[in-house]
Amino acid sequence: MNHGNLLTHLAEAVGPGQVLTGADEMAPFGTDWRGRYRGTPLCVVRPATTAEVARVVQLCAAFGTPVVPQGGNTGLCGGATPRGGEVLLSLARLNHVRSVDAANYSLVAEAGCTLMRVQQAATDAGRLFPLSLAAEGTATIGGNLATNAGGLQVLRYGNARELALGLEVVLPDGQVWHGLRALRKDNTGYDLKQVFIGAEGTLGIITAASLRLFAQPRHVLTAWLGADSIADVVALLGCLRDGVGELVTAFELIGDAALSVVAQQFPDLQLPLRGKPAWHVLLECSGGMPMQDVVSGVVASAIESGLVTDAVLATSLAQAEALWQLREHIPEAQKRRGFSIKHDIAVPISRLAEFVARADAALLRQFPQVEVVCFGHVGDGNLHYNLAFADPACATDADLVARATNIVHDIAGELGGTISAEHGIGQLKREMLTRYKSPLELSLMRALKQSIDPQGLMNPGKLL
Ligand SMILES: Cc1cc2nc3c(=O)[nH]c(=O)nc-3n(C[C@H](O)[C@H](O)[C@H](O)COP(=O)(O)OP(=O)(O)OC[C@H]3O[C@@H](n4cnc5c(N)ncnc54)[C@H](O)[C@@H]3O)c2cc1C
Repeated sequence: MNHGNLLTHLAEAVGPGQVLTGADEMAPFGTDWRGRYRGTPLCVVRPATTAEVARVVQLCAAFGTPVVPQGGNTGLCGGATPRGGEVLLSLARLNHVRSVDAANYSLVAEAGCTLMRVQQAATDAGRLFPLSLAAEGTATIGGNLATNAGGLQVLRYGNARELALGLEVVLPDGQVWHGLRALRKDNTGYDLKQVFIGAEGTLGIITAASLRLFAQPRHVLTAWLGADSIADVVALLGCLRDGVGELVTAFELIGDAALSVVAQQFPDLQLPLRGKPAWHVLLECSGGMPMQDVVSGVVASAIESGLVTDAVLATSLAQAEALWQLREHIPEAQKRRGFSIKHDIAVPISRLAEFVARADAALLRQFPQVEVVCFGHVGDGNLHYNLAFADPACATDADLVARATNIVHDIAGELGGTISAEHGIGQLKREMLTRYKSPLELSLMRALKQSIDPQGLMNPGKLL
């Protein structure tokens, strides 16, 4: 294999300025957001069109060189980090919104558009693209689809998988699959786009997506509520769903320990409640009609019955944004504070309280010094059940990390849950996957990989 030759061909394909080989210029692409994984690729290639992506992938196939696709590099499982020697294919320059069809409630965006850019294009057309997460200014729609991202409004609108109507994908041999349909109904056999969504770049490169849009809600109500237990929080969600149905757009859980980390790291942010309930809920309801009275009514009954201990309803957009700031600063606050063992589990909503009670007890028995910093998307049964230790030596204690992780994952598994609700598998959970997927599921996944990527060149060492 002559890498010099490959580099020359790549430079011909995308222009010499778009093939980076210097250590300094490649460094930002070679590590992940948490700084947990590192690798030096052979080069970083930055194509600007689907045809250029196809040519790059064709060349890599001809030279037998692995390819790592990278969008905004905000993934939390090391999926976009090279392991060493691959061609790192950055999608950042494929950043055009190709078309918006307001009447069809759809748009077509290239993979390297940031999520925020897609949201803005929808807003400009009087529509809503509801996928929303704290990294949306940097994360790309291609990365969102490749990881089947969830975020803050899954409860109402579904995750990335449910928001995709069609895809354009460069396959591992360089062929382009033109699947940018914009249909809600299309029963013509296997739904191929779903194979590439959540595949973390192991089956092909998503170059563009046709996305589902929604009506912009004209009325939004944001509230911050306190509760004594997760059981109360889950019961409150039930009351709200019974009371206002579809209007519940977000229902975020924040443990008091998680809020304390935010308060510590970002002292300028105002805490909404005077007291310190064990659990906080950030609630958002939205729709076409005013809803203040009906939501307030449900919250008032919840206070009366003791499900809610305290509540603040935002009275201005600025106040609503301030409440969201608290929620969105949790990952960054945790990062600044130092090492934590992160978990991204989901269980049926009805079993969340049991999960937390069992996991807290089992961890405290084994690790009396552990601090559980828990927050998540309760409406989706998804908790970021993170563990912090005062002693920094715990960060490098692989045995401790594995034991704590197994406790959390085993309990999630026993309750019918998953070890990865929305962040994916990447490098972080690759080994763990074999513990929690059945042999039949794993063999079907491997058969799919083998049939689409027989050379095994797409993002090797990730997911499978
Ligand atoms: C502060 C913060 C908050 C977050 N909050 C959430 C949250 O609420 N919900 C959530 O789900 N995630 C969240 N994440 C994780 C992350 O933002 C998402 O996984 C996001 O979807 C990744 O997008 P990206 O463009 O950064 O992808 P990258 O990190 O670049 O890549 C992620 C994976 O997708 C592959 N990939 C990227 N682009 C393509 C493509 N075009 N074709 C094929 N494969 C591709 C990569 O190879 C890699 O395996 C958060 C991350 C941060 C840092």
